[in-house]
Amino acid sequence: MSSFDLRRLRLRSGEEHRVEVPVELEPLEFGGVRYVSVPEEAPAELRVIRASTGTVFELRFHSRLHGPCQRCLGDAVLERSVSAREYQATNPGNEDELRNPYLKDDLLDLTGWARDALVLALPHQILCRPDCAGLCPVCGKDLNLEPHEHEETEPDSRWSALAELRDRL
Ligand SMILES: [Zn+2]
Ligand SMILES: [Zn+2]
Repeated sequence: MSSFDLRRLRLRSGEEHRVEVPVELEPLEFGGVRYVSVPEEAPAELRVIRASTGTVFELRFHSRLHGPCQRCLGDAVLERSVSAREYQATNPGNEDELRNPYLKDDLLDLTGWARDALVLALPHQILCRPDCAGLCPVCGKDLNLEPHEHEETEPDSRWSALAELRDRL
């Protein structure tokens, strides 16, 4: 897990610190399936800006996720540029919006923050390609490899036999 120790910084109001940090990107669950970042560790840019009433944090990184296409289950790759911002007031009181949830005892949890920011940047569905045809709802074959349609389903003889039996009972 990657974190950044803010005690390393001695920022005065109005000052800014910009640093390149490697961030470990954890596998994530999306739509019930697992996606992994390749590479697992991405270079990120972290900016810490000290204002008079608090501190602004900005994180930017690029991620490439690998996992199944949510239509055909083939391999899908999704590239995303992520940029996220958090704020921590010097005196947050009870206001949660004035707190950076990834900040604990001057340690900034970069892995947790990057994971949540990446999830927010994901599209509605992860697909192998925008026009993926998906799987046939009737026979389950991949419609990208074998485009086909089915005739209007005729009543299956086994079922009509059953229906006949039911009528006789
Ligand atoms: Zn697909
Ligand atoms: Zn089919």
